[in-house]
Amino acid sequence: MISDFHTHSFFSDGVLLPSELIRRSVVAGYGVIAVTDHAGPGNLEEVIGQLARECEVARTHWPIVALPGVELTHVPPGSIAWLARRARAAGAAVVIVHGETIAEPVEPGTNSAAIDAEDVDILAHPGLITPEEASRAAQRGCFIEVSARKSHAYANGHVVTVVRGAGGKLLLNSDCHEPGDLLSSRFQRLVLLGAGIPEIDHAAILTDNPRELLARVLPRLKETIAGA
Ligand SMILES: [Zn+2]
Ligand SMILES: [Zn+2]
Repeated sequence: MISDFHTHSFFSDGVLLPSELIRRSVVAGYGVIAVTDHAGPGNLEEVIGQLARECEVARTHWPIVALPGVELTHVPPGSIAWLARRARAAGAAVVIVHGETIAEPVEPGTNSAAIDAEDVDILAHPGLITPEEASRAAQRGCFIEVSARKSHAYANGHVVTVVRGAGGKLLLNSDCHEPGDLLSSRFQRLVLLGAGIPEIDHAAILTDNPRELLARVLPRLKETIAGA
């Protein structure tokens, strides 16, 4: 059963309606999917409201835990804690921050602000995260992403070394933008091996850590649509 806490629909820059993304993830063998569209101060509540309605209908009718979420993307680091709090208040089950990938000019300080914001669950593709940041993330319980996405994956080797050295918790996410990006068990294994993680440690990242995060986020789900 695949768990994937970071995907995009056409509510931001993905190509699929959430409903189709979730349907395809069921067919691909997923048990958990978070749809986490890009958001900033202007579209946060609107995107989360739309995703919450899509995910609730999917959960009701299909054998998958579909979670509404958001990825705070290229926002000023000083606004991250406030935006994450707003996202949770608006009904986001999962709050991600678009970290300092080496592929984009994400503002320095973004990783650090995400790690310190208590409403942020996952720091995605953190690029050249420092040992000190990784250790703060481990202490707060902020999950750090190993990315299966081209470009963001360039720094996976560094991320894995630093986060494991700090005793932090890793998740493998697709950052899916189109159907071909959805994970398979085979690709999960290859990305982890490619990042330097021996097979014996895969279950912690693919099963234990997702289970821990899921236990944290499930109580946040609100059933709001009568007759969904
Ligand atoms: Zn991102
Ligand atoms: Zn993303």
